[in-house]
Amino acid sequence: MSLKYVYAFAEGSRDMKDLLGGKGANLAEITNLGLPVPPGFVITTQACQAYLADGVVPPELAAEVTEHLLALEQAMGKRLGDAEDPLLVSVRSGAKFSMPGMMDTVLNIGLNDASVLGLARQAGDDRFAWDSYRRLLQMFGKTVLGVDGELFEAELDRAKKAKGTRSDLDLDAADLQAVVGVFRQIVQQETGRPFPQDPREQMDLATAAVFDSWNGERARLYRRQERIPADLGTAVNVCSMVFGNLGPTSGTGVAFTRDPSSGAPGVYGDYLVNAQGEDVVAGIRNTLPLAELEQVDAASYAQLTQIMTTLENHFRDLCDIEFTIERGHLWMLQTRVGKRTAGAAFRIATQFVDEGLIDLDEALRRVTGAQLARLMFPAFGSTDDHDDTRVELGRGMGASPGAAVGKAVFDSHTAVTWAARGEDVVLVRRETTPDDLAGMIAAQGILTSRGGKTSHAAVVARGMGKTCVCGAEDLDVDLEERTLTAPDGTVVREGDVLSIDGTSGVVYLGEVAVHPSPVVEFFEGSHPVAEDDDLVQAIARLLQHADSLRRLGVRGNADNAQDAARARRFGASGIGLCRTEHMFLGDRRQLVEDLVLAEGHDEQQAALAALLPLQREDFTGILREMDGLPVTVRLLDPPLHEFLPDLTELSVEIAVAEATGVAVDPRQSALLDAVRRLHESNPMIGLRGVRLGLVIPGLFGMQVRALAEAALALRQEGLDPRPEVMVPLVGAVQELEVVREECTAILAEVGVAALIGTMIEVPRAALTAASVAEAADFFSFGTNDLTQMSWGFSRDDVEASFFTRYLDLGIFGVSPFESLDREGVGRLVRIAVEEGRRTKPGLHLGVCGEHGGDPESVHFFHDVGLDYVSCSPFRVPVARLEAGRAALGD
Ligand code: ADP
Ligand code: MG
Ligand code: MG
Repeated sequence: MSLKYVYAFAEGSRDMKDLLGGKGANLAEITNLGLPVPPGFVITTQACQAYLADGVVPPELAAEVTEHLLALEQAMGKRLGDAEDPLLVSVRSGAKFSMPGMMDTVLNIGLNDASVLGLARQAGDDRFAWDSYRRLLQMFGKTVLGVDGELFEAELDRAKKAKGTRSDLDLDAADLQAVVGVFRQIVQQETGRPFPQDPREQMDLATAAVFDSWNGERARLYRRQERIPADLGTAVNVCSMVFGNLGPTSGTGVAFTRDPSSGAPGVYGDYLVNAQGEDVVAGIRNTLPLAELEQVDAASYAQLTQIMTTLENHFRDLCDIEFTIERGHLWMLQTRVGKRTAGAAFRIATQFVDEGLIDLDEALRRVTGAQLARLMFPAFGSTDDHDDTRVELGRGMGASPGAAVGKAVFDSHTAVTWAARGEDVVLVRRETTPDDLAGMIAAQGILTSRGGKTSHAAVVARGMGKTCVCGAEDLDVDLEERTLTAPDGTVVREGDVLSIDGTSGVVYLGEVAVHPSPVVEFFEGSHPVAEDDDLVQAIARLLQHADSLRRLGVRGNADNAQDAARARRFGASGIGLCRTEHMFLGDRRQLVEDLVLAEGHDEQQAALAALLPLQREDFTGILREMDGLPVTVRLLDPPLHEFLPDLTELSVEIAVAEATGVAVDPRQSALLDAVRRLHESNPMIGLRGVRLGLVIPGLFGMQVRALAEAALALRQEGLDPRPEVMVPLVGAVQELEVVREECTAILAEVGVAALIGTMIEVPRAALTAASVAEAADFFSFGTNDLTQMSWGFSRDDVEASFFTRYLDLGIFGVSPFESLDREGVGRLVRIAVEEGRRTKPGLHLGVCGEHGGDPESVHFFHDVGLDYVSCSPFRVPVARLEAGRAALGD
């Protein structure tokens, strides 16, 4: 059966977005709702796909279009481009997802040298007809024929200047007729052909141009960034024209059914009298706030507000609308579920619950962890703060959220030097490279004038959680002069203060005050849910609902009592990862050195004995904060040499001493030997984790004893400590067995019970999970290392060096360190889950890599059947929300 390529609006519905595109499907939906939509039809995405594959439209298309055009003509009682009384149409692109970079709409198709006169006669308005024709020439010339739009703009400006005016409304019929004459010459000159007079040819050319625009450069770039599949194609909407440029009782506007930036109910939008199409958003004249339409045309206004209610009740969501009024008659030209800010998303979702239109499950589906995360960054106050004097320099892409203020510096070295002396800096570059890494770490924020959301700056900044604005193309960065020049000529020199908003992408001159997030203040408990803070209330409510639904537990990663307490305040039900390595740094390095240098059993025992009370103290603090909740303590993981002096520094120190004849401290030379001995080419896969525990007798034992004694002491105070011992980097059950035996004995000796489990972060452990589970009470997936080892990536090296290239090449759409690679790493997780549970049905399963707080990954961990995720305290609410959404099953 051959495909049906054309659908009248009345034949479609909102469920047909794949076939009719978003615009077409919704026009169909509201046509069938009985709203006033000018009749029309949709050429399907399948026609586009065929065109893109074969280079020509499918042979059946022309006849189908003819048939639908005929029906349209009959309904309207006019023929396309008829010289006496022409039917005019618009040809509009509309893919499944709305996409900037697609072809602009062409209005007034069907006008030519003859029908323009007919239109003038029918409307009784010459000016209107010539205005419509010049618009057609301009839009068609630019978007279909590829003529430089500036040529038309310049001519229009010239005409206005000649008339001594700046408003297009002051051009009369004769002026516009003259403009049309010049526009026709421009088309002839630029394309070598006259402007096509045949209305059907106009329509067909415009249709093909819409199809072609699917593969335009901007559209392709956008798709790649937003991960929209490249083979969807776009639909084409052919819609009979209604006219907003028919004098003072006509106009065109855009509206939202509630405020998309705050979520507040009310009438939001703009209206422009005597105008057509995009005039209202193009800023050619001052628009009226929509509320003032009531004074201009009370009947249309009333009808519009009523339609808004109908739309909200029907779509059960905030809608945005494009409309036109033709001589007092209201027409709907587009509607869709509107984009909104993160804050508005939470507010609107709960408003709709209160209004009885949706239930809490649906409200939860409509908000995301990514939105919640955005609301947890500190931000610049809103621009309507009333003493606001900030100066906007320009805009780029908000590549990594947050608000950063600091002195502009133009190279990495300066960033590091200035930051080292305690100054806040913003690193400004055209684009960043791996050489800029140190400066990026030192800076408060990063600003680049080139590159998109997968540029080096963007990827690395997101990885570091650092504020970044990238691709601020209108800001001219001069690295030689160390200046940044704004379009208005403002010059920012090195040392001048900049403020950058990593969410909106706006760059400000000078210091803009940063406000802590009220959402974080609320979680911290420093901000009670105020009656009037509807955002915090909405979030609290949806989180509570998520908590009631979720099956996944959410724990926090915390290495000290303070972070543990925060994780608990943010809703964690335990600690999934307490790293012990920081407990060996600072003043305690000396003790670690003693341990490394110890010779013989007694010296070693003495060194460990010195560390024990310090460890015990650390654990006591954390267990106390987490009273009654599990705390998973990971035994020492990183390579020992990380705690020793740097090889080069130490060598130089000793060489200098020798050269100057100063006696070398014997401890120093012993240390140098040790550092040399422990030096590794690939420390990440060297002597670390369980291997350390096996090589240095007593090390893990000391840690377990400290943990057990801490627990015992708290129990004696009447508390309920719940320690768990986690062994890192296990690859074989035999490794775990040895450690387990040692731990069990110590726990028994102290008289404390604790689960003993292992991380699954070496691929071999995942693959042999069935046997590893015999010696483990729980598994916790260390997805950072598991990703590193599955891909053979050293994270610190690859992210900064070639990840950008990989993202550009589409080898992956998002860094596997940000979002779990389901196909590869995820498969290992799945194997370990299934085989581990087969050995031990009650095996407790969690994840403690940062993926535990990544919205996408949380859904995977839910699906694969883990018991909990664990992530940094700030991500705990995000994980709670997403775990609830995952439980909704879509
Ligand atoms: P976009 O996808 O950029 O929103 P549209 O296809 O919606 O493009 O067209 C842009 C504007 O052109 C619409 O908002 C409307 O004002 C105007 N327009 C499109 N079709 C018609 C029509 N048939 N009659 C009157 N105006 C139209
Ligand atoms: Mg539109
Ligand atoms: Mg690890």
